[in-house]
Amino acid sequence: MSDHEAAPVLRVKGRVLVGPDEVREELWAVGGRITYERPPGDVVTLTGWALPGLVDAHCHVGLGHQGPVDAATSEKQALADREAGTLLIRDAGSPSDTRWVDAREDLPKIIRAGRHIARTRRYIRNFAHEIEPGDLVAYVAQEARRGDGWVKLVGDWIDRDAGDLSACWPRGEVEAAIAEAHRLGARVTAHCFAEDALRDLVEAGIDCIEHATGLTEDTVPLFAERGVAIVPTLVNIATFPDLAAGGETRYPRWSAHMRRLHASRYDTVRAAYEAGIPVFTGTDAGGSLAHGLIAEEVAELVKAGIPALDALSATAWGARRWLGRPVLEEGAPADLVIYDEDPRADVRVLASPRRVVLNGRVMG
Ligand SMILES: [Zn+2]
Repeated sequence: MSDHEAAPVLRVKGRVLVGPDEVREELWAVGGRITYERPPGDVVTLTGWALPGLVDAHCHVGLGHQGPVDAATSEKQALADREAGTLLIRDAGSPSDTRWVDAREDLPKIIRAGRHIARTRRYIRNFAHEIEPGDLVAYVAQEARRGDGWVKLVGDWIDRDAGDLSACWPRGEVEAAIAEAHRLGARVTAHCFAEDALRDLVEAGIDCIEHATGLTEDTVPLFAERGVAIVPTLVNIATFPDLAAGGETRYPRWSAHMRRLHASRYDTVRAAYEAGIPVFTGTDAGGSLAHGLIAEEVAELVKAGIPALDALSATAWGARRWLGRPVLEEGAPADLVIYDEDPRADVRVLASPRRVVLNGRVMG
């Protein structure tokens, strides 16, 4: 990788989708940064429809089926995301140290949430810190310091004695832990499939819920009122029937619950969207799912009933703003994806990026 060679001056010509309502005819990338002022000299011209680099807001780099993976595997994961047009990842928990990625101008940018924090024996083995509630504040503080402004909790999981999903953390501990994260400048998100953990987490001040399949008529207004975002990961929810079938014999109640959550997934996401809850794209790549599924997730949001422009914003302009990162403004890093056709007209266009530009360089 020629990190130290000067990037060529790029000109992107066609339709630059600066924002949902703002279209320009061209932009340039000079020294890896976007400018709308035509530079002197030679340029490499790319044509098409340009979007800001896509966001996968629930993705795990450095994580495989059985826990941490080595750097070479992590690199392959990040490259698969890049190829799909994902140039900004919110890593929703990883047991691996992927800090080395930050020095690589050819890999997607990662916003880390440290390592997942779960209740003892109530998550996938080798993924999380598995602790008891009395240690929650200390672990949240530790991961807030290790991450990039996020902390990830496992909010509910199967309770094998009860044979069903149930909340993992008492209200008091979770309130103290979220307050501590906020004091340290970090936002908090939690994995939640079921209904019963949601109210406590939101009233305790949580910033986001992953999956959120358990939203109900009671909790949708609460999320909306507090501005708590959700990242539905519909491509992951699609695996619920298989999980349910696998656990049918030992945990029939859990199995039936997972099937119900799956059956109502599109209605749940549409109700959340219609109530004004911020919805963002996440694929949950890395644990069991492949990397690079961002186009499928956007298509799933549309299938759930979110209009195409808002589904695009959930992976582009809106998601970047939510994460505090720039879009295609003057001076921003030139991270963008170019398509042959207008992705606003049909989000399936996202499945075939023509060019991926990262830090002003054409990739691949
Ligand atoms: Zn995940």
